[in-house]
Amino acid sequence: MVKNKPIIIANWKMKLGIPETLELTKAISKKKFPKAEVVICPSFVSLSEAGSILKRSEIKLGAQDCFWESQGAYTGEVSAYYLREIGCDYVILGHSERRKYLNETDEMVHQKTRMALSANLTPIICVGETFSQRQEGAKDYILIKQTVKALEGIDLQLDKKVIIAYEPVWVIGSGQAIALSEAEAAHQVIRQSLFDIFPSSIVENNFRIIYGGSVDSENVKEFINLENTSGVLVGGASLNSEEFIKLIEAV
Ligand code: PEP
Repeated sequence: MVKNKPIIIANWKMKLGIPETLELTKAISKKKFPKAEVVICPSFVSLSEAGSILKRSEIKLGAQDCFWESQGAYTGEVSAYYLREIGCDYVILGHSERRKYLNETDEMVHQKTRMALSANLTPIICVGETFSQRQEGAKDYILIKQTVKALEGIDLQLDKKVIIAYEPVWVIGSGQAIALSEAEAAHQVIRQSLFDIFPSSIVENNFRIIYGGSVDSENVKEFINLENTSGVLVGGASLNSEEFIKLIEAV
């Protein structure tokens, strides 16, 4: 698994309008972060302008979703190719909020992953169990199912990178991250399921597994230091420039 510079991905969800997004983007883009790869994922409407600000920095741009077709009569949807055109390198797919509120299925996540890869975007595939699935003892089953269904049958070439974000759904936005040992165990389950569907060289070179769920400037370093962890996906703590910069610099 790729473990060079840790990747820190900010998911700004539908929490910032255009002026706040641009202000935050400007504040972050003024800094240099030699020890981390930083990606921001603003809402669709801000991507273009945020991308212009980032042109002079090393921070990368990501979207929060894309559609599974490249073009056509799909009112309201956004093509992975258009995201690429406005400067995105990454796209978050299958976030638990989309699975919950928009009924996104594993099959949709699979189709979107295919499309993202064909448009040369790096998919950030979110997987994770809900609290009731955890109570039922189905955590590993869910992680394996979501990972395998998103990726099985995709012919990954060496130049195509994929990020799997383990996000225990019940921890998102709670202010209380899970125990490090639990994250490490989940990442091992995900990694093992990748070995079941891809040659080991592809798993080692093309994949990064990251953790998401109430990461902040206090706990980020411990997560980054876990053996099977190449970065973090951050929601709440990425919305404030001081806290987010502190978080990146803590790595
Ligand atoms: C998320 O929703 O992807 C997330 C990680 O949120 P938070 O950091 O706020 O838990």
